[in-house]
Amino acid sequence: MAIDVPKRFSCSWCHEPLTNAIYFCFECPFFILHKKCLDELPTKINHTSYHIHPIFLNRSGSDCLCNLCQKQHSGPFYGCSLCHFNINIGCTLPMSIVEGKSRHQHPFTLFRRRGSFICDACGIEGNSISYICLKCYIEVHKKCTSLPRIIKFSRHDHCIFHKYFLEDLTRQDCKICFKEVRLEHGSYSCGKLGCNYVVHVNCVLEDDKLYEVIEDEKQCEVWCIQMWKVHICFGFWMLNITTFSSSQN
Ligand SMILES: [Zn+2]
Ligand SMILES: [Zn+2]
Ligand SMILES: [Zn+2]
Ligand SMILES: [Zn+2]
Ligand SMILES: [Zn+2]
Ligand SMILES: [Zn+2]
Ligand SMILES: [Zn+2]
Repeated sequence: MAIDVPKRFSCSWCHEPLTNAIYFCFECPFFILHKKCLDELPTKINHTSYHIHPIFLNRSGSDCLCNLCQKQHSGPFYGCSLCHFNINIGCTLPMSIVEGKSRHQHPFTLFRRRGSFICDACGIEGNSISYICLKCYIEVHKKCTSLPRIIKFSRHDHCIFHKYFLEDLTRQDCKICFKEVRLEHGSYSCGKLGCNYVVHVNCVLEDDKLYEVIEDEKQCEVWCIQMWKVHICFGFWMLNITTFSSSQN
């Protein structure tokens, strides 16, 4: 099946960017191939981790019930005709759902890939193993599956929020390292109007003594009120100093 996909996705087989001629199975939204790569798939897989007999590529166009994931797939698949054992192409790259603590609202799936990837959560390159969310089409490092959504960084007055991309289209520089923050990758930014505070994920999380994880958004208001009180006090103090010094004259 040929559909249009965003250019940021790469072919699951050769890892080159996808043009629009691709193979796509609805059960496996992250397994996407160039048409040419589909044509070049090995006709035979002889690997006992899949099956005791060699399995052969079947291009007959009939659907396959995959013996690994127990789902019905469309398109070509690998099968053993002796045992009626079938594996869809996507499942020949082993995958498993990640359990454990994740702060993302959907489960992540382990994805073994042949090349490198850019983590959507932190913007840093990763290798061979990534974790993907099939609902959000994001691909991240293992450590980035549990990034805090909100933190209070000691060098900024407001809470800052993790986002997978920034809607702002102007160039933003990280307030810690002063290098560019790529808008299409994850970063932490301040949600307060007029506050253009953006930082790289790795820059702000580098020293865990400098930030606090905020589990509940309501806590941010408490921080703001505290900061506001400090500012008011400081204002009064300044006012007193100036009135005091002017009354001296
Ligand atoms: Zn390809
Ligand atoms: Zn499968
Ligand atoms: Zn067999
Ligand atoms: Zn990452
Ligand atoms: Zn998600
Ligand atoms: Zn930075
Ligand atoms: Zn701010």
